[in-house]
Amino acid sequence: MPHQPRVSYAIAPARPEAHIFEVTCTVASPDPAGQVFRLPAWIPGSYMIREFARNIVTLRAECGGRPVAVEKLDKHSWRAAPVAAGRALTLSYEVYAWDLSVRAAHLDATHGFFNGTSVFLAVEGKTDEPCYVDILPPDGPALQTWKVATTLRRPAGNPLAAPAMGFGLYYAENYDELVDHPVEMGGFTHARFEAAGVPHDIVLTGRHDCDLERLCSDLLRICTWQIELFGTPAPVDRYLFLTMVVGDGYGGLEHRASTALLTGRNDLPYVGMHEHTDGYRTFLGLCSHEYFHTWNVKRIKPAAFAPYDLATENYTRLLWAFEGFTSYYDDLALVRSGVIGVDDYLTLLGKTMSSVLRGSGRLKQSVAESSFDAWIKYYRQDENAPNAIVSYYAKGALIALALDLQLRAASAGRKSLDDVMRLLWQRHGLTGEGVAEDGLFALVAEVGEAGLKGAGRRLSRWLNDAVEGTEDLALDEFLRPFGIEFRAEAAAKGASLGVKLAGGNGEAKLANVFDDGPAQRCGLSAGDVLVAIDGLKVTAASLDGMLARRQGGEQVTIHAFRRDELTTVTAELAPQPADTVKLASGKRVSAAMRALREGWLGS
Ligand SMILES: [Zn+2]
Repeated sequence: MPHQPRVSYAIAPARPEAHIFEVTCTVASPDPAGQVFRLPAWIPGSYMIREFARNIVTLRAECGGRPVAVEKLDKHSWRAAPVAAGRALTLSYEVYAWDLSVRAAHLDATHGFFNGTSVFLAVEGKTDEPCYVDILPPDGPALQTWKVATTLRRPAGNPLAAPAMGFGLYYAENYDELVDHPVEMGGFTHARFEAAGVPHDIVLTGRHDCDLERLCSDLLRICTWQIELFGTPAPVDRYLFLTMVVGDGYGGLEHRASTALLTGRNDLPYVGMHEHTDGYRTFLGLCSHEYFHTWNVKRIKPAAFAPYDLATENYTRLLWAFEGFTSYYDDLALVRSGVIGVDDYLTLLGKTMSSVLRGSGRLKQSVAESSFDAWIKYYRQDENAPNAIVSYYAKGALIALALDLQLRAASAGRKSLDDVMRLLWQRHGLTGEGVAEDGLFALVAEVGEAGLKGAGRRLSRWLNDAVEGTEDLALDEFLRPFGIEFRAEAAAKGASLGVKLAGGNGEAKLANVFDDGPAQRCGLSAGDVLVAIDGLKVTAASLDGMLARRQGGEQVTIHAFRRDELTTVTAELAPQPADTVKLASGKRVSAAMRALREGWLGS
């Protein structure tokens, strides 16, 4: 950095007991008409308006020790009054940080975490300029062991630069970069591995007994496989997995050189654990997912995100490609890198298929529509969500699978979705040119034509129908050339009431009532509490057992509470729906099928 930036921030974990970060923003030459400051309304990767400015508690401005008037312009913007030319303006504000998710900020006496979108006000007119951030240590002797983990860069040659993993000065080339490197501070544990010559750090906050050696060796395989998929060199010169370990939790958010993760303690491997638990597979899948975003969405972006407008919704119909394709590759990377076996992978794939099949929303909303409306639907799901929306993650992953299998089968294994991803990387990731809303179709056509004349145009049309339509994908047909048998069967014996229960305290409380199912037809609703079936008490634990003894078509009398009023209804039970997908290697697998499958799954 050649000279002192005109914008600099300082952030201190000032009052951990009150969850308050104190932040200052100093502007060397503020707008002569009055400097405007603005906090983002959302954080990239999580498509919902969150209005982070609601956590700003106090805010004041000064110039040369004198207060400067500040006017609030709208819910997330302020304007400081003009100051004398040549004088610096400093804004000081407090941010309340008590959101233990990967999306915002959190501070207590054990640690601090923040995304820049929650704490750094953008200086209007200067968001393209470089800036410094002084990350200040906490007060108090107990807190002097804290370290800092972030991929923000340290200004080389500056005497105030932070030491490695320390407090002090960091910098960013512009505001967009500033808010794309989350920061963790505290007494975390840390491990490092190198993939394709790039140092990768994993930081764990919270109590845990993680077998770091095993975690690093599994992550090394996953990261190396992904780097080789897109081609070396890796798009980053370092990478950081920032992990918050809690009793029960799950979440991840991608950034350009790091990811913020939230995981349950029991999902991490412990020393002496040799098997792959479901929880650990889920955690590795999450790491793999966020890492894949380093290419797909952080660098290969929809044109609608280039650049992001953090003040308002950024609409795109393409999240099926950025989240769905990433969801396909997250588990695929586990099997292709040898971290899990083929049978385990087929089990995971079956679960994704079942999750899509269980919601009738898939017959009403396309993944393109689901992408566009993510802001008001996918991210704001209510009790009717299974009946009204489709997940662009899960169905997007199945579209990726179907496309991959068709490309491989049509070209006798010469072309695959990997080629589409590499082409996206070359045309859009390396150039920074956003992907147009219809950009994927032409790329698929190009890759498909190179595999077999005529196949590209056909697959491009198929993709268009799949993302804009609501018909179920012919997955059994696409899996057959690979010697994989697809079966959809009932999850349990007996009859179905067409409901999903809320978890918890023993009551049989309805979380969801599925469209046109027995419960909906007899007038039961989400929120109702079932108390008896045919005069026998029913609880969350006993409902399945009571239904298992009955058949579709049987009538039962149900007593239920809606609010505090007892109601009695007669329901005609339905057969259990065949919505649980099992995938298995076929009995007769030809050499051609085996070769195709090896190309796809690696073994
Ligand atoms: Zn994602």
